[in-house]
Amino acid sequence: MNWLWIILILCVIAVITHRVWFSISSRRRKAAGQTPFVRGLTSLLDGDYNSAINLLKQAVKEQPQEVEPYLRLGDVLRETGEVKRAIQIHRELTIRPGIPRRTMARVFVSLARDYAAAHRFDRASATYEHALELTPDNEKVMEELLSIYEEMGEWDKAYLLRRDISKARKVDDTHMLALYKAYIGKIHLDAKDTKRAEANLKDALKIDSECASAYLYLGDLYYMMGNIDSAISAWRRIVTLFPEIAYITFARLEKAFYEKGRFEKIVDLYNDVLERNPRDVRTIMTLANIHRKKGNLDDALRLCQMALEFDPRSRRIKQALARLHYEKGDIEKSLQAMVEAFNGFSSDEEYYYCNSCGYRSNEVLWRCPRCKAWETFV
Ligand SMILES: [Zn+2]
Repeated sequence: MNWLWIILILCVIAVITHRVWFSISSRRRKAAGQTPFVRGLTSLLDGDYNSAINLLKQAVKEQPQEVEPYLRLGDVLRETGEVKRAIQIHRELTIRPGIPRRTMARVFVSLARDYAAAHRFDRASATYEHALELTPDNEKVMEELLSIYEEMGEWDKAYLLRRDISKARKVDDTHMLALYKAYIGKIHLDAKDTKRAEANLKDALKIDSECASAYLYLGDLYYMMGNIDSAISAWRRIVTLFPEIAYITFARLEKAFYEKGRFEKIVDLYNDVLERNPRDVRTIMTLANIHRKKGNLDDALRLCQMALEFDPRSRRIKQALARLHYEKGDIEKSLQAMVEAFNGFSSDEEYYYCNSCGYRSNEVLWRCPRCKAWETFV
């Protein structure tokens, strides 16, 4: 009996000692900001993902009732490629009762990011939508969902969400919304879905009657459908409204006028642009090229020299001059620059660059395919 009592008392003392020790040491760690959770977050900030995972796992064991350590652990696992595990952890949280609304919204966002990382875009969009039901004005979530809709080609939903984002920001986003519609139109145009392309491009112009990209692609659409007159008038709208970017229509208009047997019209058009914008080097050079093609080398040379005055460092103009001198038989003047000048008038020499990331394209784009920035090419 006595022995039993002694053993029992020793057990109780051991349990109490362990509890007290655990509580003191954990309180000490907490006081010093050193709980596994806090240390896990610090490792995360340091980019030390392995330590972060170990510490967060420890935190989860110590505080299984807390949501935050699970949430973060799932996030790090996703970032380190363990997407399945992340999905499992975040999904378990979504069915846990008693989680406050805003926290639950964050759980849904994390889970949606997991699905996006796993390229399960259907699930990702549905989960983002759940998050938005809980926190409707969350712009960050809206933007992430927008990129998922874009990825899925859900353009109608994408447009409506883009509009909601504008509303949430309380800014007049007419220009961007029209641009977005035009962008959608261009995607349908590339897919040869002429009906949807036309509907979206016309919507763009309803939203903003000065949407240059909508005119450009509407022209492309009409041209593709064989309606060259309508194509010409759509492109001419750009020349009239925005002479500073008229050059984006030149190659298209030249081709269209040529097909209509009215090539001389293009010269009138270039002269119109130059009257309004006399220092427009691109137009001067385009006109010079036409004179050259017609054999009017003196006119071409005069225009190139004028262009060089406005843009004295242009390698392209110098190349064109070298070529013209050569074609006029003035070998001495052209000799030095001739090797470089050989392709001076080649249209594939013309490139456009994204102001934001430097992406190179041989056409003006309204949205950079690399950095996704808008209007960085014109
Ligand atoms: Zn870019």
